[in-house]
Amino acid sequence: MLIRDKLNSGELLFSFEFFPPKTQVGEENLWSVLKELVELRPSYVSVTYGAGGSTRNKTVDISHRIQSELKIDAMTHLTCVGSTRDELAEMVDSSMANGLHNVLALRGDPPKGQKIFAKAEGGFGYADELTAFLKNRYGDRVCLGGACYPEGHIEAPSLEKDLDFLKRKVDAGAEFLITQLFFDNRVYFDFVDRARGAGIHVPIIPGIMPVQNFEQIKRFTAMCGASIPSDLYAALEKRADSPERVQELGVVHATIQSLGLIQGGAPGIHFYTLNRSAATRDILGAIRVNGRI
Ligand SMILES: Cc1cc2nc3c(=O)[nH]c(=O)nc-3n(C[C@H](O)[C@H](O)[C@H](O)COP(=O)(O)OP(=O)(O)OC[C@H]3O[C@@H](n4cnc5c(N)ncnc54)[C@H](O)[C@@H]3O)c2cc1C
Repeated sequence: MLIRDKLNSGELLFSFEFFPPKTQVGEENLWSVLKELVELRPSYVSVTYGAGGSTRNKTVDISHRIQSELKIDAMTHLTCVGSTRDELAEMVDSSMANGLHNVLALRGDPPKGQKIFAKAEGGFGYADELTAFLKNRYGDRVCLGGACYPEGHIEAPSLEKDLDFLKRKVDAGAEFLITQLFFDNRVYFDFVDRARGAGIHVPIIPGIMPVQNFEQIKRFTAMCGASIPSDLYAALEKRADSPERVQELGVVHATIQSLGLIQGGAPGIHFYTLNRSAATRDILGAIRVNGRI
């Protein structure tokens, strides 16, 4: 089923993001986590596209297996990194032939060792170009999503410019947006207000990453330009020598965040699972406890 139709039905969308593992052990872990998490009846799951285009075939293989074996709708991520438009078309043709009609169309990050994104010869330089290309090629048979950055994309010259470019992506065919991780709901609600003011009216789904490891979250936020509020940072720092207590705080914080987002009108939550089940299971279990979500 297309994500567009799920959004139009008014259903709150809870989605789980996974990455394709590089090892056999990682693969086995992924399937056991997936089997556990599909019991929570996610609206769909999404499978990332390896940085630099690595693991690209796995994205489609895993997504196809999720749909055919676990009977859960899947969304494939796709980036412009290192591919010509013909190669991208070939990949999406094959996904579509396998029943994968939901695509998160991304530019991707510059490959390791490069600071500036250089488009492949015959490829695309920005996500809006990929989005327009896919929309033109497949029309309404494909449902396209895009990424957005409540605190601004790390390369953007200003928040205003970032929003102008985001509007282009939506005008090109992105039907919904998923945010980069953030830890303060005001960041999300302010961003949604600014986006609406800029003429962006598609659903903006908040992306939540429960903190599972202090060092890792410091690394991730530094890489993507998201901030950790000082009180959360201090509380995590105090627990830094106890991984269990960091994870407990991560779950509690993400649960409060998720409830606040839903109560404030967010169309759902996209969980960055990092291929682990416990945090997502606990958060979703907690916010569904009163039966109204
Ligand atoms: C929900 C989510 C999922 C992700 N999944 C993956 C994944 O699976 N694999 C992966 O490798 N990465 C993934 N990423 C990371 C993403 O690839 C990077 O953040 C990347 O740097 C930007 O991709 P984008 O699609 O947002 O780019 P764009 O929308 O193209 O934006 C990139 C930068 O260019 C600017 N810009 C945009 N359009 C124009 C234009 N027309 N002219 C000039 N400047 C412009 C923007 O302001 C921004 O600074 C994901 C990010 C999110 C939020």
